[in-house]
Amino acid sequence: MRRLVKAIDLGLAHIMRPAQSGVAILGFHGLMPDDGADGDGTVDPYQPFTCCDLDRLITSARAAGLRFICGRDLDRLATGGRADSGTAIWLTFDDGYANNLGALPILRKHSVPATFFITSGAVASGDAFWWDVLYREGRRRNQSIQALAARREALKACPPAAIRATLIADFGETAFRPCGDLDRPMTAPELSAFARDPLVEIGNHTQNHAILSILPEADQRREIAGSQDFLARVTGNAPQVIAYPNGGATPATLRIAGESGLMTGVTCLPHRNALPPHQSSGEQMALGRFMGLRHDAMERETRLAFATPALAQYNAVRSRRPLLDPDMPHD
Ligand SMILES: [Zn+2]
Repeated sequence: MRRLVKAIDLGLAHIMRPAQSGVAILGFHGLMPDDGADGDGTVDPYQPFTCCDLDRLITSARAAGLRFICGRDLDRLATGGRADSGTAIWLTFDDGYANNLGALPILRKHSVPATFFITSGAVASGDAFWWDVLYREGRRRNQSIQALAARREALKACPPAAIRATLIADFGETAFRPCGDLDRPMTAPELSAFARDPLVEIGNHTQNHAILSILPEADQRREIAGSQDFLARVTGNAPQVIAYPNGGATPATLRIAGESGLMTGVTCLPHRNALPPHQSSGEQMALGRFMGLRHDAMERETRLAFATPALAQYNAVRSRRPLLDPDMPHD
């Protein structure tokens, strides 16, 4: 597999078109310290990404002539009526891990904005995220990475309360207590201070990390609006952007998000978006996003985001990887 990717990488040099316009949205979760890419056993290391990786990514994208925007810039571009607004990258972090606070010195160093999609219920409760509880407790019981990845995917078919009840039944209520700064969510005071930085944009990631597409409409509305209310209270502003957990959204989800005051929505469908997004098609409520960039392939993937033919080829390779490969991104 590595050889195949390498071969594609070499071929890319001839077909990349970095000057194509559009915005590539890149999605991350935790941000690990430089010496602990895989975490400390308390977090599911499905997507190792470190502060050093972030610094490198920004540096290499800048060197490739790309600029950085965030969600609020899309509205400005749309109302400005510019048909072609160049090429850009939008950095996003999902879930609301306290370790994301470590991004700020790097964003400031490069003067680059980023969006942080917050699971408001995690901030309110201080509980660890359920997938980390599953990973930590499962590994302590010697369950295999593959078995845990399969269980994680199966649990995603359940509403948040059912997932929690299942894990409490298996591991006890105390399993939801975070172990430390790597696996805990931000506190409300941390979030409030973080949101005040002009380079930080705060987005909605629902109240309970609900996969909205499996919920009745009333529950979807509660998940989205409840998070809007909480984040407005803590940060002083209601978010304008939402990342649908796991990328799960139906047409009803997009409508409810719009009715809840959100202007922009991001999925996990791996494609680049028009800049500004096409207003008439509703594209702005369901933007594509590249999840799970691996630190050892960062520069290649950044360039891939701007090379459509190469991207199609790359996705074809990726889809042939085993379904339960622990390295496969999830969100
Ligand atoms: Zn998430």
